[in-house]
Order: sequence, then structure tokens, then C-alpha cells
Amino acid sequence: MWQHLTDAVGEQQALFDREIQAWIDRYTRGGGTIFCGKGCFNCCTLAVNCTFPEALRVSLSLSSLQAERVRDHAARLMDRMHEVADLKSYLRIHRQEIGSCPFLDEGGSCGIYGERPFSCRALISTRENYWCGLDFSTLSSEEKRDFVESLDREVVSFPLHYVAETQDRGQVLEKGVAEEMTRRFGLSLYGDLPYLVHLEREHRLSSIIPLGYEITMSFLDQNSLLNPFLVIPDR
Ligand code: SF4
Repeated sequence: MWQHLTDAVGEQQALFDREIQAWIDRYTRGGGTIFCGKGCFNCCTLAVNCTFPEALRVSLSLSSLQAERVRDHAARLMDRMHEVADLKSYLRIHRQEIGSCPFLDEGGSCGIYGERPFSCRALISTRENYWCGLDFSTLSSEEKRDFVESLDREVVSFPLHYVAETQDRGQVLEKGVAEEMTRRFGLSLYGDLPYLVHLEREHRLSSIIPLGYEITMSFLDQNSLLNPFLVIPDR
């Protein structure tokens, strides 16, 4: 039932990787520098969001250790959920208290590299990895101003240092997946990657979603699984 959609996601991810590499090649030939590389993982402390079919691909590829880490991560997320007032506080709590992505391994590499979602692939840094792990609220206003003035505004998702074009393209691909999911099942689902993986591993959500919008919403509600960071557009 899901195979066609998850296979299509895999093909689009491979195509996206080639598009990103072509973009990086053009940028570096023109004198630009990209700082992403193996063993660089500061962006993996950010909250990662994706569509449910992307999370479903991840959920099928986990080792038992990774599955256990997802369970712990989801429990921490739910424990702190009552402290979340808005997106800003969610991002702060996520980074400072919930911890890095559970798929980050001991060597600082992504343990699901081949299956990582569009949002991870799209995040390309035009600054050293120090900036990817920094809490900008700790900077003085002069430091913030110097940073912002140093950015290549033609390229970045201003006022951040990540490439705008790859992020925009990643969002287009996510939208296409969401639309296809809606066409097939009457709803789409987007949200925190580890939490979506948890919903599949522990609650087999992929077997509920084909039953339709009302049944899926009622299942999530009755099992206290809804939270503000699952995005399920109204029909
Ligand atoms: S899925 Fe991989 S690349 Fe994405 S945040 Fe997690 S460890 Fe990092």
C-alpha cells in the first residue's frame, strides 16, 4: 500500500542529491565555499521535520539500538511538551534539553545517511560548522550584526547561513510527497522526524492512515499522540 510512495521518495532523494551536488559544484567554481562534510554534525542538534512517507522509509531501516534511541528521544520530547509555548521555545528546548538527533552515531555520522529526509539533505552551510551549533541568542548585538553583514545575501536563506535554493527545492519535494499522500489516503502528515518514526515503530501508524482522516485523527487523539508539532492539514 505504501511501497509505491516510499519508492518514489527514494528516487526523488537520489535526484535531489545530484541536484545539490551540481549546485555546490557551480558555487565553488564561482569562488564560493561550502563547509558541510563528513564528521560535521552541529546541524543535527536542530529539530528535523519531514513528511510521514520519509519517516516510514527511516523506520524500516533501523537497528535495535537506533529503535531504542528513538523511543528514548520520543519520551523526552513528550515529557517536555507542556513547556512548549510556541515554535521558538520548541526549537530552544529541542536543542538544549532534548538533545541531538537519535540517528547521530558515536562517530558523529548520520546512522541513516541513505534514508535521511529532504530537510537534512537540503541544509547546506556557507559558514564553518561552529555557526550551525550556535545558539544565536547568546551573541551580543554587535556579533549578530557582524555575522549578518558577512552573509552572501544572493545565496543564503537570510538571516541564516544555509543555502536558500536547496532548502526551497527540498520544500517543493516535501510538498509533492504530501500531495501524493493526500491523493492516496485523504490526509497528509508532517512533523518531527524521530516522533514520526516512533509513531510507526510503536503504533503502526501506516496501517491506520489508509483508513482515512477521521479514523486516523481519532486514533491519535485516543492514544494521546497528538501534539502541536504534528502537522495534519484539515481536509
Ligand atoms: S537524520 Fe542524520 S543528517 Fe538528519 S539530523 Fe539526524 S543524524 Fe543528522
